[in-house]
Amino acid sequence: MPIKRPVVRIAALFVAVAYALTGLSVPTFAQGQPLTSPALQLCTPTPLSGRETTQPDPVLPDPGAAAVLKVVTTVAPITNVVFNIGGPRIAIRSLIPEGQDSHTFEPKPSDAAFLAEADLIFLNGLRLEEPSRKLAEANLKPGAEIIALGNLTLPESDWVFDFSFPKEGGDPNPHLWVNPLLTLEYAKIVRDTLTRRDPDGAAYYLATYTEFERRITVLDQAICNTIQTIPEKNRKLLTYHDSFAYFAPRYGMTVIGAIQPSDFSEPSAQDVARLIEQIKAEGVPAIFGSEVFPSPIIEQIGKEAGVKFIETLSDDDLPNQTGDRRLHSFLMMMVENVKTMTAALGGDPTLMNAVRADNIQGDDSAIVESGE
Ligand SMILES: [Zn+2]
Repeated sequence: MPIKRPVVRIAALFVAVAYALTGLSVPTFAQGQPLTSPALQLCTPTPLSGRETTQPDPVLPDPGAAAVLKVVTTVAPITNVVFNIGGPRIAIRSLIPEGQDSHTFEPKPSDAAFLAEADLIFLNGLRLEEPSRKLAEANLKPGAEIIALGNLTLPESDWVFDFSFPKEGGDPNPHLWVNPLLTLEYAKIVRDTLTRRDPDGAAYYLATYTEFERRITVLDQAICNTIQTIPEKNRKLLTYHDSFAYFAPRYGMTVIGAIQPSDFSEPSAQDVARLIEQIKAEGVPAIFGSEVFPSPIIEQIGKEAGVKFIETLSDDDLPNQTGDRRLHSFLMMMVENVKTMTAALGGDPTLMNAVRADNIQGDDSAIVESGE
């Protein structure tokens, strides 16, 4: 969609001029160079039939064998993708417990024991899980592999550095999976890796991937259509945790900033004052927090700026952890995120009901989560 790029540039220039005039510093968002990956190009709204959620359960081939490979994963969205592709043919252990801050997570020395037994270790990469990667590398058994899904998905030229992930710090924004098309790339790499390591499961991994791809395609289109219902001037995200950098370009939203500083501490009083001015200047109707990072600051900023503050966006934590585990899924996390932001920004969230968001593999409570 080459037409949209100049519009974004002009909008960015306007914001920069507005800040110069009001004497505020210009926050740094993306690097400014065009993002080239297809998944980061602007979507086109297209009506869905609306019957996707009532489709019958997928008919998958018999898995044939159980726990052929031992697999370790890190954050919950990656665990969920690996679970949906591998099903009972693989035994999964997740390293980073849900609800913990994945950016500062340190594995325990005792985690080395199961890392040493793993055939495959799936990480996000882009420097998200460096302590876990190092422990995995130090304990890798002969023939085992560490697969950094994010590094294999996006060329370095498309990595985003922004407010909470400044270029000087060297750590790019790692939240690729919040863009469903990038998550589909993760699923493709998982399918190919499992097939290579366990060729007898090839037909099974192809069938599960195909069903996942179908659901992601519907999810992507439903998000595109839903964001379109938000008044154009409101398609702006200011979040506590800076996790929507790869989501925004695909769906025509602008990340105007993030509250959390790059060292994951609380913002200073000066930062807070600047953010309040920014929110007023941009005219955003709502700002967003997340359950993993509860902060009284977002409430304070919301009140002082006179906007709604919504605390339930999620990038790591999957919904229904203690509820129906068929809906403890990456797909459901994204459905809920988009419903939440759309309702708060003045759009119609009901179009998201077209997405079938349960796990292809059903209840996922058999996954072993590493203890805290
Ligand atoms: Zn995060």
